[in-house]
Amino acid sequence: MKKVDYLIVGQGIAGTMLSWFLLQAGKKVIVIDDAKANSASRVAAGIINPVSGRRFEPAWLYDTLYPFAKATYLQLSALLEVPVFTERELWTVFPSQQMRDAFLTKTTGDAYTELPSALKYEAFLDQPYGAAIVKGATVNLRALLPAYRRYLQERESLLEQHLDLTSLEVTATHVLYGDVQADKIIFCDGVATTGNPFFSNIKFLPNKGEVLLVKVPGLVTTDIIKKGITLVPQEPELFWAGSSFVWDYENDHPTARQREILEKSLQQLLKLPYEVQDQLAAVRPSGNDRRPIAGLHPEYPAIGIFNGLGTKGCSLAPFMAAHFVDVLAANALLMPEIDVRRYFNILRG
Ligand SMILES: Cc1cc2nc3c(=O)[nH]c(=O)nc-3n(C[C@H](O)[C@H](O)[C@H](O)COP(=O)(O)OP(=O)(O)OC[C@H]3O[C@@H](n4cnc5c(N)ncnc54)[C@H](O)[C@@H]3O)c2cc1C
Repeated sequence: MKKVDYLIVGQGIAGTMLSWFLLQAGKKVIVIDDAKANSASRVAAGIINPVSGRRFEPAWLYDTLYPFAKATYLQLSALLEVPVFTERELWTVFPSQQMRDAFLTKTTGDAYTELPSALKYEAFLDQPYGAAIVKGATVNLRALLPAYRRYLQERESLLEQHLDLTSLEVTATHVLYGDVQADKIIFCDGVATTGNPFFSNIKFLPNKGEVLLVKVPGLVTTDIIKKGITLVPQEPELFWAGSSFVWDYENDHPTARQREILEKSLQQLLKLPYEVQDQLAAVRPSGNDRRPIAGLHPEYPAIGIFNGLGTKGCSLAPFMAAHFVDVLAANALLMPEIDVRRYFNILRG
């Protein structure tokens, strides 16, 4: 029997960050992950964006989340010897005069945005209403997740398998799964939690995103380019191009319909030909109020959750995981906005 403090289910960005901060706090951890090829973290572009949505609203808690995320990713880059964090400008093309006006109203004087003195990419992009520069970053999840997986393997802290909930034994003080006994199990299994009977109270609003990998001959940049669709550089001339939002979907596979919609957006953005090399799809794990979901189950204290990262896993996960670890160590009170108990109608006085 292997005894640990925490069994973490899932090694997307949520399970990666939670296990990392638990290890940093001196806890014994096993992560169990079935390496689903199209998990949200394996398909995401990894963009960290200081403004949200089409109206350029400042992103929630950004001034707190961003410096913490940057420091965490840089620390992991150094430890794992793989570059995972890049600060980038998002070249944001205004689709209309109205959007340009909205940008100027919302962002005047902030530190994250500016209007360029001259337009770039004139040979590649149609930009009759001009463009703005938004200062963000990307996290290379396709490098970070496997590198951190190897780190866990080397510490014998990884089980590469699917956790079958029907084989999980839960008591008031611990859980048993196979030959692992853990004081607590924390579900970081993304959209799979929607089928977990312990958390059936949570109102999830999962949504599917589809993406194309496209080659744009001649376009070589480190900027993210955005106008309806977002181009994120992967290699010279190769871009992640996405993504769609679909709430009503049959499965998590790529569809011809979304390919058509993504290609239409690409044609509106690009003046030049491009070549589609691949199409990917995954489901974002979002709660109905779009806030993270963390905490221990009110009736089963050996069971916890860290989920609901929605569209912003890369900016939210480091700070929220570290905060949850502080709470588990009884050093902090859980932020009410992310407390899982909001779904159990348990309010804090
Ligand atoms: C198309 C798309 C684009 C996105 N772009 C961005 C972006 O640019 N920036 C950003 O910040 N966010 C982005 N997101 C959102 C981001 O991907 C999510 O917020 C984040 O990945 C959620 O991470 P997670 O760890 O909670 O879940 P997941 O990434 O889904 O990870 C869950 C893990 O659990 C494992 N698992 C599930 N069930 C079991 C089980 N029973 N046993 C063992 N293992 C299990 C899976 O294999 C997986 O590894 C995007 C999402 C999509 C779909």
